[in-house]
Amino acid sequence: MKQDYAEQRERMVATQLIARGIHSEAVLQAMRTVPREAFVEPGFEEFAYRDSAMAIGEGQTISQPFIVALMMEAAEVTAGDVVLEIGAGSGYAAAVLSRIAARVSAVERSEVLARRARERLAALGYGNVEIVAGDGSGGWPGGGCFDAILVAAAGPDVPPGLKAQLAPGGRLVMPVGDTGGQTLVKVRRVPNGAFDQEKLADVAFVPLVGAQGWADEEPRP
Ligand code: SAH
Repeated sequence: MKQDYAEQRERMVATQLIARGIHSEAVLQAMRTVPREAFVEPGFEEFAYRDSAMAIGEGQTISQPFIVALMMEAAEVTAGDVVLEIGAGSGYAAAVLSRIAARVSAVERSEVLARRARERLAALGYGNVEIVAGDGSGGWPGGGCFDAILVAAAGPDVPPGLKAQLAPGGRLVMPVGDTGGQTLVKVRRVPNGAFDQEKLADVAFVPLVGAQGWADEEPRP
């Protein structure tokens, strides 16, 4: 069975990532390594390598493998980086990031999902990644600066609190928009302290809910 997952993982990397233009060796290698089947709902392991997002409970999803890879490549995550993820969900993207970067901190709004993600990462022995329960829409509560920030939920705009935590030269990748239409954007903190912003792709993410995201009770179209 284990062997079977290894094969599925190789196929995923070839057909879903390389065939679609992902070329960062660091990202491809990390995605060859992390067992995605350990991050889906129990009983759904056989579908873990499908070319799609999947439900993980609490009304949330584990992102499509291609989107995970696209965001990491766009954020130029490399060895030695200190990385922040907002929206840890299953913990899968944080796990992949931890195989590339020096250290990963991931914030998850749902206590339930945060606890499950923490358990999965501990079971895999991934020691350089921490999951914190809370609202990450305004940034990492612990403070500090990050070389790369990935946000896995779509906000009304790029939160100023998150931009403020980009190190000089740091990159932030996140979806912006509502369910009517979202765009993946990349923000770079340039040396004079200003921010460059570019659009990457049309995407569909769950909403970023919090102080610098959407309001909880706000009707979202
Ligand atoms: N990266 C995840 C995908 C998670 S989906 C994975 O690999 O599985 C997005 C997640 O963002 C959801 O779990 C949702 O609960 C979380 N989220 C939404 N708003 C948030 C906020 N303000 N702070 C932290 N997490 C948030």
